[in-house]
Amino acid sequence: MKPIQIAIDGPSGAGKSTMAKLLSKRLGVMYLDTGAMYRAVALKAIRMGIDTRDREKVCEILPDLDIKIEYKDGNQQVLLDGEDVSGLIRTDEVSMGASNVSAIPEVRKKLVELQQKIASNNNVVMDGRDIGTHVLPNAQVKIFLTASSSERARRRYLELQEKGLLTKTFEELKQEIEQRDYNDSNRAASPLRQAEDAVLLDTSNLSIEESVDRIISIIKEKVGSDVL
Ligand code: C5P
Repeated sequence: MKPIQIAIDGPSGAGKSTMAKLLSKRLGVMYLDTGAMYRAVALKAIRMGIDTRDREKVCEILPDLDIKIEYKDGNQQVLLDGEDVSGLIRTDEVSMGASNVSAIPEVRKKLVELQQKIASNNNVVMDGRDIGTHVLPNAQVKIFLTASSSERARRRYLELQEKGLLTKTFEELKQEIEQRDYNDSNRAASPLRQAEDAVLLDTSNLSIEESVDRIISIIKEKVGSDVL
């Protein structure tokens, strides 16, 4: 049977990974967070003192790039040169670096190949920016998840506050989110856009539970209830 592929795309902070993780548990399919791979490339560049906007220098690290995805207790771990960097790739510096390296076509080519390979053997829910448009153009279910930039900044603010990691104002967080939206939507290589056959879901006024329920009904509609 053809593997079930669920693609979730959308701007930063729209709740893609939260949704994808919940869906993966509920449906028993593998979750692949593709953003983590771009983050790992950025971390490698930063560690080597390379400007993440320098295409030539970033390309030099690609031939030896060793990124692996593993699962521990159902959670995705990203291994960079054998080291688990899952926690280290969540800083603001790496977020901006990932946005920069993701505009480099050679980086995208390499990571997309890896993502397609993983999806070819497994039932997956994959989240990113170009999953429905490029990585899995034939995915049975495509969701474009979005929320207003204020709402996304508000969620990020609360999340950081809860973790005791709040170092920025709400306005600063909102500006960073808008900057990443701009970068992701305006790059030449696979810009962020809704696939023609994707279902748009705006979660600005929805709770996590309400959002998952909406997505589950979309999946039921597309592939039938027997997968759930
Ligand atoms: O989703 P996340 O915020 O972890 O992604 C980090 C960055 O990687 C994004 O800002 C985006 O620029 C890039 N990305 C991408 N294509 C993907 C996933 C992430 O360009 N499929």
